[in-house]
Amino acid sequence: MNFNDIPGHADAKDRLRALVSTAHVPHALLLSGPPGSGKMLLARTFAQYLHCEHPTDGNPCGKCNACRMHAENSHPDLHFVYPIVKSEKQKRTVSADVAEQWHEMLSTYPAMPVEKWHELLGAGNSQPVIYVNEADRIVEADALPAYSSTRKIFIIWQPERLRPEAANKLLKVIEEPSDTTLFIMVSNDPLKILPTIASRLQNIHIGRLSDSDIAGYLQQTKGLSDNDAWRLAPLAHGSLIESDELCRRSGEPLEFLQMYQESMRAAYSKRVGMLKSLAENAAAWGREKLCRYLTYSARMIRENFIYNMKVARLRTMTPDEEAFSQRFSPFINHANVEDFSEETDMARRDIERNGNAKLVMFDYFIHCIMLLHRKA
Ligand SMILES: [Zn+2]
Repeated sequence: MNFNDIPGHADAKDRLRALVSTAHVPHALLLSGPPGSGKMLLARTFAQYLHCEHPTDGNPCGKCNACRMHAENSHPDLHFVYPIVKSEKQKRTVSADVAEQWHEMLSTYPAMPVEKWHELLGAGNSQPVIYVNEADRIVEADALPAYSSTRKIFIIWQPERLRPEAANKLLKVIEEPSDTTLFIMVSNDPLKILPTIASRLQNIHIGRLSDSDIAGYLQQTKGLSDNDAWRLAPLAHGSLIESDELCRRSGEPLEFLQMYQESMRAAYSKRVGMLKSLAENAAAWGREKLCRYLTYSARMIRENFIYNMKVARLRTMTPDEEAFSQRFSPFINHANVEDFSEETDMARRDIERNGNAKLVMFDYFIHCIMLLHRKA
């Protein structure tokens, strides 16, 4: 990654580059601003820029050993610190114990949606925090020499979630770290950082992106046309997180229709093996998307029943949905429409309550076999 790959923030990028060119990199930096503004992307790129062996035109070269290790998030002098939920039973006591989930977060959700991190952690109702033993680990690592570069970099995500004991332990190393250490804190909520810590950080505010930055991002990274990108951009409110979410969902109607067609066809022809694998595919979507799918299914039941009644003006189907309904709608009728709706609502409630998604969906599809074969 280099600075040009990150939308907007020309001033902040220039400020970061100037810290290097004037040899004024502080001991501790804070990148703060609203969620989805690209702070973590800037922090990671700045760290790579500092480690790069041949920085070129104000960017990391992308080719040297250090850049390659950064691309894999495996540079030995780059340490990430982030909130976790402790579990002695699962042997989770420091960030490093959930490194696998963290790498998934960085590669799949680089705009860093906090809810997604909680989901990856399986945090449930617990609030992830940065514990005091994490601070011990940082103090120890700070005292060691850098491994393969001249600088150790700690990127601390959400310093507002440092436990007070942890923050107190860090005070000294943040004020007087060893010469080769840089702390970069990345915060959505800088006012919640302990004042004693905050006062020791050099703050760079990373504000919301403009619609034009977002439109460019959507074209470059999601391959959207100019028109589509500008249509979606204002809905993202200057946030990369919301942009990603909008894109993710823009393909859903078609994906849901495909799943609906395949599962209803398989249920009608009683192909239980096929239903099992469809249930597995749907379960892999995750709880939220699965709930949206079941809401979609409930709508399809309603629409097909109305289609069957030949009440044209009440229908709101897309042309693709209508093409499917021409043959499917006779199977949604007075004899089964209520039970169909009830089963669909029940499946959604089970998913919302954290039921085993594969089992819930398979069970739902099996009920669909019986309902589709009930005589009108
Ligand atoms: Zn490089």
